[in-house]
Amino acid sequence: MNLILLGPPGSGKGTQAEKISSDYDVPHISTGNILRHAIDQGTDLGLSAKKYMNEGKLVPDELVDEIVAERLSFLDCNRGFVLDGFPRDLTQAKALEGIRGIDTVFLVECPQQTLISRLSNRRECSSCGKIYHLLNNPPNREGFCDDCGNKLIQRADDQPQTIKKRLTTYEKETKPLIDYYGEERILVRLDGFQNPDTVYAEIKKYLP
Ligand SMILES: [Zn+2]
Repeated sequence: MNLILLGPPGSGKGTQAEKISSDYDVPHISTGNILRHAIDQGTDLGLSAKKYMNEGKLVPDELVDEIVAERLSFLDCNRGFVLDGFPRDLTQAKALEGIRGIDTVFLVECPQQTLISRLSNRRECSSCGKIYHLLNNPPNREGFCDDCGNKLIQRADDQPQTIKKRLTTYEKETKPLIDYYGEERILVRLDGFQNPDTVYAEIKKYLP
């Protein structure tokens, strides 16, 4: 069960990846998580990645490819995996092809208006990382985390000007992937405007 979840920021693909991972007991592999993990572990690849990040630069594709390849070689990936945020573009998709075959690619689509509303209303606990949404899932006390009482912040990523930029980048880089996996006939389109349980029910129809 080798899966990829594609979708713009705010589409909820991370939530879906979590659900699949816990129900089917396959690891949820997001680029952010494995980069952080490699850095925490101080692996050679992690140390190289850290150098770029400390300088405020993007970690180069080849390095990300290597880190993903390393992660996919771990034993827990024998039964499959859910990739989230990788591949980001066609170059990475082709690199992945040389590492592991893919069974299904889920594309979570969502109107841009909804994405902007979701992302700009998102707040994160500065301490425990719990996510809130000012409209759909607000904290009990404005500005503070229900669980640990610490301050809620808006990530730099979720500021309005940055959101637009992220969505444009996604469109440009990911559109070719949709065609690429579409031609391979392993792409499944999902309506990410629906509530997460409905989206997940749809996903399950395609899983063993
Ligand atoms: Zn908290």
